Amino acid sequence: MAQTVAGSYLDGSPVRTGGETFGVVDPATGQVVAEYALATPADVDTAVTAARAALGGWSSATPAERSTVLAKLAALAGAASKELVAEEVSQTGKPVRLATEFDVPGSVDNIDFFAGAARHLEGKATAEYSGDHTSSIRREAIGVVATITPWNYPLQMAVWKVLPALAAGCSVVIKPAEITPLTTLTLARLATEAGLPDGVLNVVTGAGHDVGTALAGHAGVDLVTFTGSTPVGRKVMAAAAAHGHRTQLELGGKAPFVVFADADLDAAIHGAVAASLINTGQDCTAATRAIVAREVYDDFVAGVGELMAKVVVGDPHDPDTDLGPLITTAHRDKVAGIVARAPGEGGRIVTGGSAPDLPGAFYRPTLIADVAESSEAYRSEIFGPVLTARPFTDDDDALRQANDTDYGLAASAWTRDVYRAQRASREISAGCVWINDHIPIISEMPHGGVGASGFGKDMSDYSFEEYLTIKHVMSDITAVAEKDWHRIIFSKR
Ligand code: NAD
Repeated sequence: MAQTVAGSYLDGSPVRTGGETFGVVDPATGQVVAEYALATPADVDTAVTAARAALGGWSSATPAERSTVLAKLAALAGAASKELVAEEVSQTGKPVRLATEFDVPGSVDNIDFFAGAARHLEGKATAEYSGDHTSSIRREAIGVVATITPWNYPLQMAVWKVLPALAAGCSVVIKPAEITPLTTLTLARLATEAGLPDGVLNVVTGAGHDVGTALAGHAGVDLVTFTGSTPVGRKVMAAAAAHGHRTQLELGGKAPFVVFADADLDAAIHGAVAASLINTGQDCTAATRAIVAREVYDDFVAGVGELMAKVVVGDPHDPDTDLGPLITTAHRDKVAGIVARAPGEGGRIVTGGSAPDLPGAFYRPTLIADVAESSEAYRSEIFGPVLTARPFTDDDDALRQANDTDYGLAASAWTRDVYRAQRASREISAGCVWINDHIPIISEMPHGGVGASGFGKDMSDYSFEEYLTIKHVMSDITAVAEKDWHRIIFSKR
């Protein structure tokens, strides 16, 4: 029986908006687990008005006051872990082990990090740089932040955007993906319980084409932050540009996974399977292109194929399940189509390549070897449990192949040679390069891409750069009416 929920959260309260009824579907079963009324562009206006009204009070609260509220939110989110895990599993179909060990504790840690970071804003030292003036820096909240998030890690993606904004003193209107709003709504409710003033965090759950468009192009916001696909990110940027608003974009990825001949092959094989299948491959940093030294290529392909075939696909609520369904049957069919076309472009399906006989949007872990560099499977973001593999001849070829993509979010290099590792980390164009691992993230370190993967950072102190403006205050200390520099204007006197 589907529960009915309020799909939006405006000015400190859950609100049943006036749009059409929408069902949140569990992709493992196809059953509707929750129903809510979609928000409309008019609700976006209400949310932005509430956020604007709340901005002054929150931005002028002391860092310690903001920190206290956010620390309480971290504690409440930690205490609500079971509820958050249940919501995340039912709306995304991700395995309960992933939600329990990664999504929810990672989000709680990130909230906790920003509770502390709220008190540690840095800037240049106040000093007399001109001799006649004291210069100081003020870091001020940019204002009302509009943020739009995707469905793959609903809670984490919300936290990555909302928390640095709140820590910096901004107010926020967030639009989660309409198919996965539940944990974002719970986050907003917990924030109110933690003492966040009404209107500082608002949620409008609506479709991208109307509510997303209305929010991204709203004249009343000061910054638009977005996590999602590259084509939609570019639309969001264009909508914000109409008002000259700043944007921060975390977009798609097609991460290379480069295995040199001297690598620990067992570690690389285990790493490739885990990093390509995490979240059923619906992860922007997932390993998607294994680029492997020819000397070890056959062993790598055989090892990955064997290990992938052992991965347990099934009910995400079962703690023994490794791989859940894709987010929708439509997305599963898109993934299946790309895999089906791969042999026609030279790819060899080593394992997987089909859907198991289960009711939900499932697809088997799939390895496609020998893909052509021009092929669809190699170039496009598949966003499913699919790894491609290609051999390389020497280090130059390996790094050329790694960079042969428009994306630049994440990459990894597998080697025991410290100079190779250093060269790979220097020359691979990406926001993050792992050495002998692929996937781990940490609140203290930034996440964000280059090229078609977007710009700007989530997590870490670096993310504050997105949400703060820098103001230079320059105060005369001479108390002289006719200042020395006036001679430029008054030379004849
Ligand atoms: P998407 O781009 O389809 O949707 C993202 C959000 O944008 C959703 O809330 C959607 O409703 C909204 N939206 C859709 N059209 C819009 C429009 N015209 N104007 C404004 N908003 C609109 O992405 P998705 O399918 O939800 O998520 C998967 C994508 O997200 C993948 O490409 C993945 O790589 C990317 N992603 C990137 C990161 C990162 O950190 N770089 C993290 C997670 C996901």
